[in-house]
Amino acid sequence: MDHSLAGRSVRHVWHPCTQMKRHEAAPPIAIDHAVGPWLVDIDGRRYLDGISSWWVNLFGHSHPHIRAALTEQLQKLDHVMLAGFTHAPVVELSERLAGLTGLGHAFYGSDGASATEIALKMSAHYWRNQGHPAKHRFVGLAGGYHGETVGALSVTDIALFRDAYGPLVRLSATVPSPDARQARPGETAADVARRAAKGLEAWLQAHHQETAALILEPLVQCAAGMAMHDAEYLRLARALCDRYSVHLVVDEIAVGFGRTGSLFAHQQAGIRPDFICLSKGLTGGTLPLSAVLTTDKVYAAFYDDDAARGFLHSHSYTGNPLACRAAVATLELFEQLDQLVVNRQLAEKISAAFAGLNAHPRVSNARQQGMIWAWDIDTSLPDFAQRYHEAALDLGLLLRPIGRTLYCMPPYVLDDADITHLGQAALAALNTTLQQEAELAAKKGKA
Ligand SMILES: *Cc1c(COP(=O)(O)O)cnc(C)c1O
Repeated sequence: MDHSLAGRSVRHVWHPCTQMKRHEAAPPIAIDHAVGPWLVDIDGRRYLDGISSWWVNLFGHSHPHIRAALTEQLQKLDHVMLAGFTHAPVVELSERLAGLTGLGHAFYGSDGASATEIALKMSAHYWRNQGHPAKHRFVGLAGGYHGETVGALSVTDIALFRDAYGPLVRLSATVPSPDARQARPGETAADVARRAAKGLEAWLQAHHQETAALILEPLVQCAAGMAMHDAEYLRLARALCDRYSVHLVVDEIAVGFGRTGSLFAHQQAGIRPDFICLSKGLTGGTLPLSAVLTTDKVYAAFYDDDAARGFLHSHSYTGNPLACRAAVATLELFEQLDQLVVNRQLAEKISAAFAGLNAHPRVSNARQQGMIWAWDIDTSLPDFAQRYHEAALDLGLLLRPIGRTLYCMPPYVLDDADITHLGQAALAALNTTLQQEAELAAKKGKA
């Protein structure tokens, strides 16, 4: 019996989004501690966290400011239920989020998927309270990802999930994605956006009477493989939602908190959504927390003497003081460090370090938005993602391609040596993987 931490883990821990049998060949890596952008395993091997531990980490692991805030909070108040009670961290966080977004009412959940569920329920309940009970369906973008609980899956357009769990889910409609890679010769990203918006318009024209909300990931559809689009799409979608009385839900769970260059991605389009979903970076990557922000108008539709007109939703840990305190500390760091400005310079340096990947003959659609980089790899390896991931780990770098799309979404705290390592290891791992492909092809040729 394997008594290592990894061995014990696969016996008793069911790992997420993982075919557990794979761990026979490649056991999970047991992490002992993490500092800044580096993960350190129990044997002392170091891995640069090039995907911010599934897109959650912003200021590096174990940041002293967030750690101090959490330590202090833990001395005082660990948790109290939020129904009938309140506390300073949740109030301060809600005030700050209102100030940053103009959406003045925050409802809390624990994960991204629960934020999606809250936004969908709130939108449909709003229409019911307003005397339009038929408006209870949703529409999303092709390739959209909004989480994996049964309700969130209804607006998540990932074939693998739709096949396995389709019968459990009330599937929503999907309209064309404005993915800029669909540009025809001579078309700009804005042209693609306008073309995609026509698809949305046609759909809303036919179905607005039963539609509560459009949900989308602004600027970058991350799980679809970092599909990027022009902000023009968001402006057109906002105008169409207004025209057809349909809510616009922006899912900023992955793209919020500076990922795309602005604090929130939709701000680059100059629009105001009806709902904003936040999670992942909200606590700087320390604790699970999600929030749905909405407008005075939506809030007012629930404000009544009748309990059934109130929003009927709760999670036991709603507004957990520790998580909220970590989120406040995270927002303080953005201010103190002027992080959006810092990121602009950092992104330039990182882009320069990726020159080798950008120019690689097997790479197409090299793209960047803020602190997100992606490349489509021309490879015939069906298991490219797994092979690349392992090759990068061997070189001390954590990257996990999505299908044949390689991407990087690092924490905002890389120094010059980290950046050099990132650029070199990312390129070397690609060459190693393509070398394996060549060897496999040669073997097949001989056989
Ligand atoms: C990760 C993600 C979610 C789901 O968040 P979980 O915390 O994993 O449930 C929802 N929407 C987007 C855009 C995401 O990237």
